[in-house]
Amino acid sequence: MNAPERTRYEKQIALSQIGPEGQARLAAGAIAIIGCGALGSAQAQILVRAGVGSVRLVDRDVVERSNLHRQMLFDEDDARVARPKVEAAAQKLARANSDCRLEARHIEANPRTLPELIAGCDLVLDATDNVRTRLNIDEACRRARLPWIYGGVLGTQGVMAPMPVGAPCLRCLFGEPPAPDETPDIAQSGVLASIVVAIASLQATAALRFLVGNPPPRQLVTMDIWDMSLRRISLTAGPRPGCDCAPQTAL
Ligand SMILES: [Zn+2]
Repeated sequence: MNAPERTRYEKQIALSQIGPEGQARLAAGAIAIIGCGALGSAQAQILVRAGVGSVRLVDRDVVERSNLHRQMLFDEDDARVARPKVEAAAQKLARANSDCRLEARHIEANPRTLPELIAGCDLVLDATDNVRTRLNIDEACRRARLPWIYGGVLGTQGVMAPMPVGAPCLRCLFGEPPAPDETPDIAQSGVLASIVVAIASLQATAALRFLVGNPPPRQLVTMDIWDMSLRRISLTAGPRPGCDCAPQTAL
């Protein structure tokens, strides 16, 4: 590590949890952030500034005025010209840390595109806004044997869970998802910017822990930012019998 790098990260290297070795691991790390809205903006800010070596941003949307209250990488100019979110984000992040290899992918993450979108990465962050895409991320990461970090927000509440390799799948954790038109979304319920940043911070911290080789415990963290309450539930159960994610046992 050269002198300018040491200076940039000196307050982070001073942490016993990171140190020079952890910082070098971050520099060698590659991640994909699926979704570049509010969660993705906050995750990317933290992880690019922390010195993660390679960050791939994936999103098919453009910036809209109604995004600005919570999506912290975007501004009024981006909304005025309906700029692709990944393009606006990558440009701003490059100004924050020009050493990070940033890749902007203006494309939908679906079962067909995900294998290529996560290829070459060490881990994947969920920054999406729907259950269907999360199930697809779960499936793609399971096949690629990559850890990923689940996160979701609605109203003033949020949830996150690290999903290490070999852990039971999302269906085992939550059961079968309701139909899309039965799932509440932020168009109906609204969302507060501070809960998004809080959940993104937990996800980014989990990502840092995976990358430095000290993975977070298997747990579900739920938070209501308005009540200022946080709950942790240890995830100890194995896969549900019969689920595809259960390890195949020899007969
Ligand atoms: Zn399962």
